Order: sequence, then C-alpha cells, then structure tokens
Amino acid sequence: MNKIQMKTPLVEMDGDEMTRIIWKMIKDIIINPYVDLKTEYYDLGLENRNATDDQVTVDSANATKKYGVAVKCATITPNADRVKEYNLKEMWKSPNGTIRAILDGTVFRTPIIVKGITPYIPTWTKPITIARHAYGDVYKNIEMKVAKGGKAELVCTDDKGNENRSLIFDFKDTDGIIQGLHNKDNSIQSFARCCFNYALDTKQDLWFSSKDTISKTYDHRFKDIFQEIFENEYKTKFEQLGIEYFYTLIDDAVARVIRSNGGYIWACKNYDGDVMSDMVATAYGSLAMMTSVLVSPSGVYEYEAAHGTVQRHYYKHLKGEKTSTNSVATIFAWTGALKKRGELDNIKELCDFANKVEKATIQTIENGIMTGDMANLSTLPNKKKVNTEEFLIEVGKNLEKLIK
Ligand code: NAP
Ligand code: MG
Repeated sequence: MNKIQMKTPLVEMDGDEMTRIIWKMIKDIIINPYVDLKTEYYDLGLENRNATDDQVTVDSANATKKYGVAVKCATITPNADRVKEYNLKEMWKSPNGTIRAILDGTVFRTPIIVKGITPYIPTWTKPITIARHAYGDVYKNIEMKVAKGGKAELVCTDDKGNENRSLIFDFKDTDGIIQGLHNKDNSIQSFARCCFNYALDTKQDLWFSSKDTISKTYDHRFKDIFQEIFENEYKTKFEQLGIEYFYTLIDDAVARVIRSNGGYIWACKNYDGDVMSDMVATAYGSLAMMTSVLVSPSGVYEYEAAHGTVQRHYYKHLKGEKTSTNSVATIFAWTGALKKRGELDNIKELCDFANKVEKATIQTIENGIMTGDMANLSTLPNKKKVNTEEFLIEVGKNLEKLIK
C-alpha cells in the first residue's frame, strides 16, 4: 500500500509524562502505517525547555505562524515541586501561555460524544464548543481593601495630562473592597475575529453573551465590537453558509444553552468562559474526551487535548505497571491537525484518513472497548476495560477495516 504523502510539514510539539508515551504510540500504531508523516519536530518536554531556556517553545510558536498548523502534546507547567523534580534553572512559564501570547489566539474546547456516555443534560446530543476570551478583566485586576472613611475614585489620565474622574464609592460608615478591571479593543477585536473564523470553519452558529444591560460601557463595548466586525467582515460569508451570529444577555444564553441540543459555538468573556467551560466539560462526561484548538485571528491553528500530562498514571508507568490512560483527545488533536493540513494543501486522502481515524476511535468505544475512566461512566452492557496500548491496538484494527 502506498502511504499518503504530505506537502507542508505539521508543527509537532512533543510534551511530557504519560501523554508523551501516548504520543509515540499514536504515531506508531495509528498514523505511521498509513501516512508518510512530515513534521517539523519541537521537543517541548520540560527537560528540553530547560536546556534551551524555553527558546524551543518560542521557536515552535513561530514555526506554527509560518506553516499554519500545529499539534501539541500536553506539557508540564512547572511549579515549585517540578523545579526540584527536574532540577530546573527557572520556573518556566506555561508553554500554552507563551504560545497563545505569540499567536494572539483564542482557545475553542469541544467534547467528543460517544454512545454509552450520556451527558448530564440528555438533550445535548451535539457538542457545545466554548470559546473563552483569554485576556484581561478579573484576570488582570487590581484590588484593594478600603478602610472606613476612605473614598474610592476611578481616575484616568489622558496623554495630555487631563484627568477624568468618577466616584466608585464613599466608604463613610464601613470598611470595604474595590477592584479595577480593564480590557483592550485590539484584544476584543482579535477574539471576535477568531470566533467568526472558527464558526465559518466548522459551519456552526456563533453565540456571544455578556452582561451589557448592567455594564453599559464595559460589556457593551464587547457587544459593539463583535457587531461591527460581524457587519463589516463576516455577514455575507455567514449568509452564504447559512449560519447565524447572535448576541444575547449572559443570563438568557445560559437558559438557552441548557434547553439546546448543542451544535454551536458559545463565545464567552474571560470569567464566563472559565466557569462555563468547566460546567460544559463536566456535563458531557470526561475531561479526557475534550479537545482543544487554539485559533489565531490570522487563521493559524494549534490542536491539543484539553487535559494535562496525567502525572499519576505516568508514575505507575515508570514503575512498570500497566495504565489505562485515555488517548482519545490526543488522537483527535492529531486528526484535527491532519484534517486542517489536508484542507489547506488540498490533500483529500489526508482528510479522509483523519475522518476514518476518528470513526475507528468512536467505534472502538461504542463496541464496548475502552479505558478505565470511560468504563466507569459508560452505560453500555458489555463493556471491557483495556490498558493504554490495548485500546490503541484495537483502534488500529478498526481503522484497518475502514481503510480496506
Ligand atoms: P491532568 O493531567 O489532566 O490529570 C488529572 C486527573 O484526571 C488524572 O490524574 C486522571 O484521574 C484524570 N485524567 C486526565 N486525563 C486523563 C486521561 N487522558 N485518561 C485518563 N484519566 C485522565 O491534570 P493534573 O494531574 O492536574 O496535571 C498534570 C500536569 O499536566 C501538570 O504538570 C500540569 O501543569 C499539566 N497540564 C497541562 C495542560 C496542557 O498542556 N494543556 C493542561 C492541564 C494540565 P485519575 O488519576 O483519577 O485516573
Ligand atoms: Mg475553570
């Protein structure tokens, strides 16, 4: 059999611990037998980040800008324990944070749905994708305690030195607290474009929500920016595809989401996205079944699993024990990236291959063969718990049948 040939390389970002083990298995068992894989490889494993003073992370993000598509393995974000464990020169920053800052992107999270794992909201038959604005608001806040008798004002000094002042509160008869927030038009604009692009890309409706009725300047600015960009740059394209953009108050959005069947993108402000993405992920079943893609406003894509490096399983693996680690989200990171590369380079066989891998993966679980995390949740009658490698071998067998 001739292997599928690629034109442009994928940017491959390797990672840490159990997901690094899974990474190699996916390539060996699922991809390499069928695809003459062309990647530009960056080792984002913590040891190499430390050895390169984290330059490798920056290089991998720049390569992603150059080629347009990357696939990333989960990586350790070091804390004090990790600094000791890996004898690090520094507590290196989160690679995802570094990459996101360079690509100026938005993260879209989508659950993978399989029969046997019923969402807590049974009407959610299609995935809900959450897009979280990852800049500003309460995540870059300034807070203070105010003692009784203090007066808090909001002061903005313009570039000519003129002051604009508003009273926040006069704490005449009690102690209290205050908080200063900001966001930037250019960040909101990037966020909006990422969301509109991704809606076009996945042919799904886009919802955006905020609290503009209460926050008449701040949240209203988000609403206006989305509307302006939509009217000027995307309206016609949305009409051509038959998809919709609509804005609604966050309260109304929450009520509609619960009543919905899924199948759309919900764009959220930073805090709403933080909270709602955890709710949506839990309601669909398992973090191990959640995919994630970083999309830049210029249309660059980085695919990954939403979960971490599954440290506890890795320590078992190091002791020579078999683990039952779920590889589905990492498989879908690869298929997402291969599909996008196939689309951009016009290689239909590559897109077809990626679709078959996804189908084979879902079939495996729906046939009752799954890792422990899924076996705990699945309502299928004849389910069988397998280990990490056995699961991938089974996916490989189903894939072979689909390809023949
Ligand atoms: P985690 O790796 O997501 O794992 C937390 C727990 O969730 C696991 O111990 C496991 O539960 C379960 N789990 C997650 N993914 C699973 C999978 N694929 N299959 C089976 N079970 C799975 O989070 P963490 O342990 O908090 O973080 C570990 C490291 O990952 C940290 O160093 C963190 O910095 C990093 N991290 C990286 C990313 C990223 O690169 N995008 C994201 C998050 C965290 P049981 O142990 O009960 O089986
Ligand atoms: Mg959260």
